[in-house]
Amino acid sequence: MLSCVIHGEGDLRVDELPVPSPGPGQALVAVRYGGVCGSDLHYWRHGGVGDFRLREPMVLGHEVVGTVVSYGDGPSGLAVGTEVAVHPATPCGVCPECASGRRNVCRDTRYLGSAARTPHVQGGFAARLVVPADQLRPLPAGLPLRRAALAEPL
Ligand SMILES: [Zn+2]
Ligand SMILES: [Zn+2]
Repeated sequence: MLSCVIHGEGDLRVDELPVPSPGPGQALVAVRYGGVCGSDLHYWRHGGVGDFRLREPMVLGHEVVGTVVSYGDGPSGLAVGTEVAVHPATPCGVCPECASGRRNVCRDTRYLGSAARTPHVQGGFAARLVVPADQLRPLPAGLPLRRAALAEPL
């Protein structure tokens, strides 16, 4: 699949990567649009964002929308074909904040297209993206998919 990969400062490429397959509890999304965040631009222009430096190639992008393609084993979720926005943060599930139901302030969250940890969390500027199924958000009827790419920054 075609993917937008940052290899280092000023070195942005369209690479061919293998299509990922969803594991248990995960969904495969056909990405249609992605918003370009200031952090994506920093990775491109400066090879990093603050202390988060590129140490390996990374697919950019965390403001993405698309349609549900399939699920891994186990319970599924929204119907295949549903238009969704993707919540880009995966909370750890075990830290004190997560344990007290405050997953939004998890101290060890994984964020799409981020070099905060190594290996980096690969992002969503790719034809297909695997994320935990509970990070999909169905879009209201009548909201154009392209406009819905603004859901994450909003
Ligand atoms: Zn952003
Ligand atoms: Zn946590």
